[in-house]
Amino acid sequence: METSYHSTRSDAEHLSSKQAILTGIAPDGGLFVSDQMLSCKLDLATVCANDYHANARLVLGTLLGDYTSEQIATCVEGAYGAQWDTRAITPLAPMGDDWLLELFHGPTCAFKDVALQMLPRLMSVARLTAGSGRNVMILTATSGDTGKAALDGFADVAGTGVTVFYPHGKVSDVQRLQMVTQHGANVAVCGIRGNFDDAQTEVKNIFANKSFAERLDRRNTVLSSANSINVGRLVPQVTYYFDAYAQLVRAGATKIGQPVDFCVPTGNFGDVLAGYYAKCLGLPVGKLIVASNANNVLTDFITTGTYDRKRPFHKTISPSMDILVSSNLERLLYFLSDGDCELVASYMKDLSEQGSYTVSNKIATRLRESFDCGFANDDDTRRTIRATYDELGMLIDTHTAVAKAVLDARKHEGNPRVCLSTASPYKFSADVLAALGTNTDGLDGFACMDELAKLTGTHAPTQLSQLRSEPELHTSVCDQDKMEDFVFEACARVFS
Ligand SMILES: *Cc1c(COP(=O)(O)O)cnc(C)c1O
Repeated sequence: METSYHSTRSDAEHLSSKQAILTGIAPDGGLFVSDQMLSCKLDLATVCANDYHANARLVLGTLLGDYTSEQIATCVEGAYGAQWDTRAITPLAPMGDDWLLELFHGPTCAFKDVALQMLPRLMSVARLTAGSGRNVMILTATSGDTGKAALDGFADVAGTGVTVFYPHGKVSDVQRLQMVTQHGANVAVCGIRGNFDDAQTEVKNIFANKSFAERLDRRNTVLSSANSINVGRLVPQVTYYFDAYAQLVRAGATKIGQPVDFCVPTGNFGDVLAGYYAKCLGLPVGKLIVASNANNVLTDFITTGTYDRKRPFHKTISPSMDILVSSNLERLLYFLSDGDCELVASYMKDLSEQGSYTVSNKIATRLRESFDCGFANDDDTRRTIRATYDELGMLIDTHTAVAKAVLDARKHEGNPRVCLSTASPYKFSADVLAALGTNTDGLDGFACMDELAKLTGTHAPTQLSQLRSEPELHTSVCDQDKMEDFVFEACARVFS
């Protein structure tokens, strides 16, 4: 099937999925969406008989129609190979009366690997078969998890490079070491004197700088983004909703055609939107439950129909969900409005000019047909980590615990419920250990990892525990106004 993509804010110009992946974000600021998604249904009997890799081929082949089946198959084999600690990729485990979908078995122990092991491969194929053959430099500001997942995904991928900026002194020991020990001839990592927003703001400035783009263009290089607005990051995430359903059916927990609820710890709305895409493609989804931490802008939105980002920002123990503007919501608004680009554009204008927008009654009603919501503060989250360990013997991370807390606060109405688990508890050892009642004062990240292992009789993933003995390869730290120079030098070095 031919798939074509256009902006959420205008359908005047259509791109192939390869072009959409290379471009990242539409020139008018909108996100790329495909209307074909609504007219296509996957066959559930096939899905339930498939393994993860076959389901990935099915989903990607459906949503990225201009890739050949050979190209898709090669990307799937490469993205979901031996760098995962299980061939199941995203195994489902029973958790009391519910189910836990473990999305953290990839190389960097966070769910972003599912998409960021795939995106570089999709981009490489697109570059060679639909692009102008120019080099692509991925530019990312990270508060922790995305940077490492992007580095690992793009390391040594031909024709690409990756530059990551993180706020110096403001990421955890483990997160910093994950990035500064990264191997690869095409990677660059730099700390910024400032906070995440400073890094993010300057990255946006660099993207918007036309003369810088021309300077890079003369060197046959374009900039691109690896964050979750890219179609190539969103689409791979649809697979695990189908695959979770297949696992439930095979476990005898449900029958083909019966609805299942999913509870998703949410930040930028990429993960839970992939669940909505799965529903559009025919997956029997009851409710998608949007779980937030104290930054509960989405809870309020789903409850009231008004999105209001004018509120205090809370720094929580689930930092990857500390977000007040959930970019991917724009795609949902497009689909809930039956593709009304003008309306979506007007909401986004209100958001940028007034800091809020209110959707029509029709959209609010349709929103609540598919989505439910709840939030958990840090105390709820810690209590849930402790109770889950004490009562079920399961160790969950701070982000997963937000979703579990939201699930626990609801009545169980009959549908099987799947809680998405987005990170290994060892990625957030200090907060998990403290939640279990250990005093962590004076313990560094690795001491917490060791204590957590001792206390629970589990093991830290080797890619995390080994970090303490790996050489630090990237020692650069710079001011915000030197970031552009750093990017240029990285391009010159990587694409020489
Ligand atoms: C990124 C992230 C999330 C949030 O996912 P979104 O797609 O941004 O909603 C949740 N948990 C962890 C561990 C993450 O890294």
